[in-house]
Amino acid sequence: MDYSIFHQDLTQRLESSRLNNNEHIALLMFCIDHISEMNDTFGPGTSEQIVLHTEEIFRKHLPSNAIFASLGDDRFTIAFTNLTHDIESLATKLLALIQHPVRIGPHDVFISASAGLALFPEDANTSDGLIQASETALRWAKASNQHAAAHRYTRTVQIEASHNYRRINELLGAIDRQEYVNFYQPKVDLKTGRVVGCEALTRWNHPIHGILEPDAFIPVLEEEGLITALGEWTIHDACLQLKRWHASGIMLDQIAVNISAQQFCSPNFVQMVDTAIRTYGLQPHQLELELTESCLLENVEHAIQVFHALKEVGVHLSIDDFGIGYSSLRYLKDIPLDALKIDRSFVAEITTNAQVSAICQSMVQLGHHLNLNVIAEGVESTAQLEHVRGYGCDVFQGFLCSRALPENVFAQWLPKDLLWTVNHPAGV
Ligand code: C2E
Ligand code: MG
Ligand code: MG
Repeated sequence: MDYSIFHQDLTQRLESSRLNNNEHIALLMFCIDHISEMNDTFGPGTSEQIVLHTEEIFRKHLPSNAIFASLGDDRFTIAFTNLTHDIESLATKLLALIQHPVRIGPHDVFISASAGLALFPEDANTSDGLIQASETALRWAKASNQHAAAHRYTRTVQIEASHNYRRINELLGAIDRQEYVNFYQPKVDLKTGRVVGCEALTRWNHPIHGILEPDAFIPVLEEEGLITALGEWTIHDACLQLKRWHASGIMLDQIAVNISAQQFCSPNFVQMVDTAIRTYGLQPHQLELELTESCLLENVEHAIQVFHALKEVGVHLSIDDFGIGYSSLRYLKDIPLDALKIDRSFVAEITTNAQVSAICQSMVQLGHHLNLNVIAEGVESTAQLEHVRGYGCDVFQGFLCSRALPENVFAQWLPKDLLWTVNHPAGV
């Protein structure tokens, strides 16, 4: 459907819904990721074929109460009235259908897509408002690399949309006002039960909204190119914390921090890490940097150099969320690493899905053949614990043991001898 007809139709539907007790209308905004690069990689005409293929999927699978328009190169919007379906599962199903490889000439082209979801009347009450809200939610889906489900326009997204500029200043000023705080989640050795370290997970203690999780502020900082400032604060705070624990007799081996791709590629990153370690007098291996495969997407040669320079400094390097990225396994031979962290989406299905369980086993073997430690994240049950232990994982992390905790709660939660057992109460 032509976009102007779609817009008119949507406006009419909103009008009749208003007369009908504000019957729900859902708007989904889909975007095919990296479509502009596909012609370069797979030859001219590839993107057009992918757009046609995607339209075909929508035509085949949309229920009769849906209207659909293509918005140009990579975007599609769909409105649903008389919502009889669970819209979130429908969006998940559509994303899964789109994200199948498509045969184009001699290539199997893997498609990744993102989706944003907004609802009338909760999120907006005009067609333009609804479209804008779904666009905003889509931006968040893309920034947080969310491809399996539609990102729902939420309160935190709303804050970003309506106070974007104010919020950016707010986000930056938050470092000076000391509103960011690191929470800590333990990492446990699966053979000995010893708490070997922890991961620092940043929260924003917002003066009005209270404790906000990273997905409320990290994507905005990344989008605005401002993540490096927070990243530097996080590393310094984590190093200081480990030093303080050591001074009070809590002898954790290591502290891990997450590094975003943007921060990793920033000039002087290696020097900043080196300075932080020296400032607090840590041994380099006591700091672990958790990096994602996205670090290697932009400029592979530069990224490989940075990995080597960090290894020279002596910090530990691990690949976070391993298994869900889009780069090839080839890079594993080119970069010096210490650990792989199996993404928690695999662990979530390890006991219920034989294929997932086989993939996890293979990831552990792959890691071990490369002399890497393998960490399972997102372990929530004893059944999952036994699976990852059975596969030979070295370390686990997850709610079964503890959520990420504020510093003082974490220190109280830690077993005195650092030996964790299933009977130890979970940190909540
Ligand atoms: P991540 O590095 O993969 O961190 C693990 C996330 O999984 C954390 O969410 C943690 O609370 C959650 N988690 C741990 N165990 C379980 C479990 O058993 N079940 C479930 N369902 N979840 C579990 P959190 O704290 O919301 O962090 C989300 C992401 O935000 C992190 O993913 C990391 O990528 C990013 N992040 C956090 N702090 C920072 C930071 O300081 N800098 C950067 N660049 N990214 C950060
Ligand atoms: Mg992490
Ligand atoms: Mg992870």
